[in-house]
Amino acid sequence: MTGPQLSLAQIRNRLVLTARTILRRHLPGSDGRCLACRIPDCRIAIAARDVLDSAEKVRQGRAPTPPDSNDPQD
Ligand SMILES: [Zn+2]
Repeated sequence: MTGPQLSLAQIRNRLVLTARTILRRHLPGSDGRCLACRIPDCRIAIAARDVLDSAEKVRQGRAPTPPDSNDPQD
């Protein structure tokens, strides 16, 4: 449970632990499909990987890149 008494580092660590737990449950099987969802390219696993990537960038002092939904399309 997160609350205002936690430091940013503690919140980040909990997000990382949660993302790792999700990735362990949403591994691709031998057929390439998620073992939990039974679909290829599991969106839950992709989101968990994004959380881990962002948390690592924050840990290294680099700002995570925002979603590119507002990028202009040429
Ligand atoms: Zn899945």
